[in-house]
Amino acid sequence: MEHAGGHIMELKRIKKNCNRKQVKAGSAIFGNGNFAVIAGPCAIEGREMLIDTAKHLKLKNTSMLRGGAFKPRTSPYSFQGLEVEGLKYMKEASELTGMPVVTEIMDPRDIDKIYPYTDMFQIGSRNMQNFALLKEVGKYDKPVLLKRGLAATIEDFLFAAEYIAVEGNSDIVLCERGIRGFDSYTRNTLDISAVPLLKELSMLPVIIDPSHGTGLRSLILPMTLAGLAAGADGVMIEVHPCPNQALSDGEQSLDFNDFDRLLEKLLEVESCFKDIRER
Ligand code: PEP
Ligand code: MN
Repeated sequence: MEHAGGHIMELKRIKKNCNRKQVKAGSAIFGNGNFAVIAGPCAIEGREMLIDTAKHLKLKNTSMLRGGAFKPRTSPYSFQGLEVEGLKYMKEASELTGMPVVTEIMDPRDIDKIYPYTDMFQIGSRNMQNFALLKEVGKYDKPVLLKRGLAATIEDFLFAAEYIAVEGNSDIVLCERGIRGFDSYTRNTLDISAVPLLKELSMLPVIIDPSHGTGLRSLILPMTLAGLAAGADGVMIEVHPCPNQALSDGEQSLDFNDFDRLLEKLLEVESCFKDIRER
């Protein structure tokens, strides 16, 4: 099938064929009917807050813990993350709870530093077309969570994934995290239609990030449900013990109670959409 909008025929490694890919990151499973929930703070701010969050998430059977140690911030004067100190807390939280972890890598030179501490590399929106970084993670045996660029087309996004796969690593999960729109009420416009389209064009699992996708806490639950109905294989949500005091992205983070309510709702309806996920 030649895609009307471009050169999708050139995709050789991630193009949709009969077999939809399942990607595993530790015990977390993306694809083949499973719905994975990744949750945790935007940034690892300290040991206690991370361990408290991880313990709560584990109680609720969350699939994976997230947390940024190397943070891509718009302003160079904003909190940049705890770097390796943060990764050590992440490892401790993972060992304590048994939950696998995902953290962002921004620079190919950091790969060996981050590798021992994480179960999955996250490539953020701002680095979706950092080709040196894409090629580097493609040489490693760890799954990659690739987030859609702020202004990336579907084709840009798929070719970014292809860059990783060409190097040998096709354990890639695509994450729709919203694109820049003209509205100033929401932080981004979460492109729900990207979910079925990416699954139509590629064999990769697709998840959504309604926290960055909207920037608004109140929209996380409805967008999670919309993503689920569109066939998403999972969701990534920012959760903080005290969002109002978060060093970054507090306004798009859920507290523990709101997260529990979201999970309850998700459990009620999740199985209804299993056949859509499996398509
Ligand atoms: C994140 O998930 O920590 C993040 C920075 O998101 P994005 O790259 O989508 O902005
Ligand atoms: Mn964030």
